[in-house]
Amino acid sequence: MKMSNMLVSTLREVPAEAEIASHKLMLRSGMMRKMAAGIYNYMPLGLKVLKNIEDIVREEMNNAGAQEFLASALIPSELWKESGRWEAYGAEMFRVKDRNERDFCLGPTHEEVFTDIARNEIKSYKQLPVNLYQIQTKYRDERRPRFGIMRSREFVMKDAYSFDKDQLGLDLSYDKMHEAYVKIFNRCGLDAKCVEADSGAIGGSNSAEFMVKSEVGEDDVVFCTSCNYAANIEKAIATPELAEKEELRDLNKVETPNIKTIEDLKNFFNCSNKKMAKTLIYRVDNKVVAVMVRGDREVNETKVANALGEVIELEMANEEIVKNATGAITGFAGPIGIKVDELLVDEEVANMFNFIVGANETGYHMKNVNFKRDFQGKVGDYRNITIGEKCPCCGCEITIARGTEVGHIFKLGTKYSEAMNATFIDEDGKSKPFVMGCYGIGVTRTMASIIEQHNDENGIIWPLSVAPYHVSIIVANIKDEKQVKSAEEIYTNLRSKGIDVLLDDRNERAGVKFKDAELMGIPMRITVGKKIGENQVEFKLRKGGDMEVINTDEIFTKIKKEFLNEGLKVQ
Ligand code: ATP
Ligand code: MG
Repeated sequence: MKMSNMLVSTLREVPAEAEIASHKLMLRSGMMRKMAAGIYNYMPLGLKVLKNIEDIVREEMNNAGAQEFLASALIPSELWKESGRWEAYGAEMFRVKDRNERDFCLGPTHEEVFTDIARNEIKSYKQLPVNLYQIQTKYRDERRPRFGIMRSREFVMKDAYSFDKDQLGLDLSYDKMHEAYVKIFNRCGLDAKCVEADSGAIGGSNSAEFMVKSEVGEDDVVFCTSCNYAANIEKAIATPELAEKEELRDLNKVETPNIKTIEDLKNFFNCSNKKMAKTLIYRVDNKVVAVMVRGDREVNETKVANALGEVIELEMANEEIVKNATGAITGFAGPIGIKVDELLVDEEVANMFNFIVGANETGYHMKNVNFKRDFQGKVGDYRNITIGEKCPCCGCEITIARGTEVGHIFKLGTKYSEAMNATFIDEDGKSKPFVMGCYGIGVTRTMASIIEQHNDENGIIWPLSVAPYHVSIIVANIKDEKQVKSAEEIYTNLRSKGIDVLLDDRNERAGVKFKDAELMGIPMRITVGKKIGENQVEFKLRKGGDMEVINTDEIFTKIKKEFLNEGLKVQ
């Protein structure tokens, strides 16, 4: 491509709306433009990178034995009603009506569609296993679209769905996807770590996320400082800290006027917040649920939802619900005499002695409270693990880092096949539901994440595998005929060898061209300048190192070496 023909405009200024490196750099380098909140148009330069990532994904999915499909993004509501997700998906789903008032949605994901395809096309165990994938645009009306294409309302996802005859088959399909994902992210130059993730009511070690560490990530990832344990905080198992054993003392109601927060209580009772338990009240669909954790702990809402089974909506209760449950204003809730549908007690609280809780009466707390003697509840792990606590695998210290999810692999089991009556005839002649897995990669989010991991103050530094162009050729002085002619020759020659080249033949100062090539992140730069008289050009790598003066006949060898260094093939 010649820059003089290309529709691209780079920006020197950082656009005000962009907060993170990838967002800023994609706008500045002219890779994409915003159309509305969370909705972007991809310009030629950005689209090239997107297609390169898609090609890597496609190749590895095909290598893993998956077959490419393309389903419609417009999906009739009937399919979603069968699985029960037409209601459950809530406000994140873009819903539309056709001219006959029939309901459709713009697919946020495609479990229902692929389960429908399987039930129509697969009749016998002989046709299994099958793994179907597509690379397609998804639509989600995110509550907070932000960070450009990191969390957008329209994005490209690779989604795959595996169908097996039994659990063993699913385990194999899942492992294959796990391997394929490792290869995909490696080839994209992305340092992504596989971590255990929450798999909702299904439970077990049935779900893993591929996370990239990032300060702007919206997930907390727990890592062990010693062993390989890594898990999303939603899932990471918290080990209870056992309190020192004490004789049980008599229950005691204490007047605590205007003392509502844990901090106030600490001062009032002059004790550590490890001696207190908070009782938080939630509205969970049409139930009221109270959750108790130690005073210094945080409730993990995912663990709470999993303990309760199928949950659509979980939120902190409003004042009215609190008043009904406790008979008091917010701040005085406690387990004794509380009127809720369910009381969940974190196992740490169940193991405490003589602790302090709210008295369910405005202005009062209870002292010397003990689980079992004074109240009952369902005991479990309902809290977030915190930095410095024990790893559930080896007992060493854990740490927590922010991360962004780029991929997710999930053993669905028969959740959708049962709901949608998707069955096949097994070897024994019996009709059985497919055992399914689903596997997603955020392709556009991967693109932004690569930039997050590969940039400097001058712009993007693309790994060669996904770069929009491998090489940029810069003509230092466009008025010098010899320079222009030689640059064109090098350009044609490299292109004939399968190298993707961007020839900057614009009538601009060399400095401007250098800056643009750096901003766009083209991995190799060849400058054709005055030395072309002696058949020499300048060669420079975007990722660093010195500029070299080389002979024109060395150019291809130089480039080839870079390809080989990155494990890539060239003709
Ligand atoms: P998140 O927790 O970030 O919202 P999710 O759990 O909703 O992600 P999945 O439904 O598993 O995501 O979707 C598969 C992949 O699609 C994710 O791993 C992520 O890379 C990508 N993805 C999800 N939502 C968005 C979005 N709004 N913008 C860009 N990519 C997204
Ligand atoms: Mg989401």
